[in-house]
Amino acid sequence: MTLETPTVEMHPQRWGDPAAASDLPESARGLVELAFGLRDRPAVTGATPPAVALDDALLEGLRALVGAEHVLVDDETRTLRTRGKSTPDLLRARSGDLSDAPDAVVRPDGHVEVVAVLAWAAEHRVAVVPFGGGTCVTGGLAARRDGFAGLVSLDLVRMKRLLAVDDVSMSVTLQPGLRGPEAEALLAGHGLTLGHYPQSFDHASIGGFAATRSSGQSSAGYGRFDAMVVGLTAATPTGSLDLGSSPANAAGPDLRQLLLGSEGAFGVITSVTVRVRRAPAVTTYDGWRWPSFDAGSDAMRTLAQAGLLPTVIRLSDETETAINLADPTSIGGTDDPGCLMITGYEGTAEQVDARREAVSAVLTGLGGTALGEEPGRKWVQGRFDAPYLRDSLLDHGVLVETLETATFWSNRARLHDDVKEALQAALGEGSLVLCHVSHVYETGCSLYFTVAASQADDPLAQWQTAKAAASDAIIAAGATITHHHAIGTDHKPWFAQEIGEVGVRVLRAVKAELDPVGILNPGVLIP
Ligand SMILES: Cc1cc2nc3c(=O)[nH]c(=O)nc-3n(C[C@H](O)[C@H](O)[C@H](O)COP(=O)(O)OP(=O)(O)OC[C@H]3O[C@@H](n4cnc5c(N)ncnc54)[C@H](O)[C@@H]3O)c2cc1C
Repeated sequence: MTLETPTVEMHPQRWGDPAAASDLPESARGLVELAFGLRDRPAVTGATPPAVALDDALLEGLRALVGAEHVLVDDETRTLRTRGKSTPDLLRARSGDLSDAPDAVVRPDGHVEVVAVLAWAAEHRVAVVPFGGGTCVTGGLAARRDGFAGLVSLDLVRMKRLLAVDDVSMSVTLQPGLRGPEAEALLAGHGLTLGHYPQSFDHASIGGFAATRSSGQSSAGYGRFDAMVVGLTAATPTGSLDLGSSPANAAGPDLRQLLLGSEGAFGVITSVTVRVRRAPAVTTYDGWRWPSFDAGSDAMRTLAQAGLLPTVIRLSDETETAINLADPTSIGGTDDPGCLMITGYEGTAEQVDARREAVSAVLTGLGGTALGEEPGRKWVQGRFDAPYLRDSLLDHGVLVETLETATFWSNRARLHDDVKEALQAALGEGSLVLCHVSHVYETGCSLYFTVAASQADDPLAQWQTAKAAASDAIIAAGATITHHHAIGTDHKPWFAQEIGEVGVRVLRAVKAELDPVGILNPGVLIP
């Protein structure tokens, strides 16, 4: 089954659907002006990408493989396939820097055409950047081009089919170019859901979820994306891989794991078979107030270790709680808003009632104050809006960016304090550092930080300094450089420290075997 609706292209210099872009809400203007000052930072318009480096003979070769209409070299299409959507990506785009634009955008339809394009690229030393939804935030779409005859964006937008449904085993096979809502729409026709809702859901793709080991906001109930994958096919320059012949096995190391998180450096994922669930009949969200971040985190740990997690659970620290609430005193009815936790339940009415009752009893027993459904409703309504707000803040001279990490419960408080301190010290007085626990496991959790600061003259350098300080603090605290945003180019130095010299050699050896010419995403992932 396939979809006929055209994919919504994101704005080249902003997040998301251009039709949904908005200015800073009037209600927030006063607060933002007070905290950071308001200065207009208009984006440069009219910039064009560098001249196409591939000559006609090479382009003709590509056209023969996928059809002339699927090899695009116009400025607009190349601009739309330049980098991802991190704040540094947006700052570069806003400054008119299109130096990372591909020479051509190639749109294969299916595994066989992908294999052919990779063979062509290896033969002619052309770098290939697989492109799913373009929501990457770690520089994973800005591959190196030196040493190559050119660079093409391998746009998977034509590969949007639901290939198979096995509703006995509760798994489906999807092509990689399906965006989050498109995949859910196809599954809804069968009464099924993936339950994978990252904040980038509207634009990110199935292949991208697999290639970056993404984690959605409902991960407590549905699991991380990599945990849903039971099988996949991938095209590499040296051949194809078809992995996942059983739900579980002991057939040596799990090669699926080599492709999951490989960020286009080992191969192009051309289909994934994922575990699905019945679409929930009921969804309910609640708010809880905690006197402190420690108390709320301990409650999350208790639930996780008791096997009693809701479908969604997240906890904002004191600063994030205060900032996120238009009226901080509205929570718990006191001047001290404490820390806001959101819990969400999905399933049949019986499942939701039973789980909600059991979780609520534990949370009440641990000192949480129930705030009813209103905070949960507000969170659900606004869960995909923050990236649009980032654009309006950038328009007005405020630097906004996020980063994330994960660690064991016993190290959670240290990690929170060290990263917060590093960011605050680097960004200086007046900056804001917010944090929430975004994903939880029996043994630990992920921490997600958001910063806001008045933009310096060079906001890119300002952020890079702060990000390096935070990354150093993360590694010094023994945590991971990324829980779900992946490595890209930005995290490589810290990734190398995390996996050590032998780990780096293993990755280089796999790369050399699967991609001996090194055409796939050069400079991405492999330290
Ligand atoms: C506002 C915002 C919010 C976000 N929220 C979340 C979140 O809640 N959770 C989360 O996990 N992430 C989040 N992200 C990060 C991003 O959305 C994820 O990494 C997502 O999985 C990327 O998917 P994509 O389709 O956009 O991939 P792309 O950006 O197109 O590609 C990402 C990387 O994977 C490679 N790639 C893409 N498709 C394939 C393929 N089929 N085969 C091989 N390689 C491929 C690319 O070359 C690139 O290196 C967010 C990003 C933004 C901008």
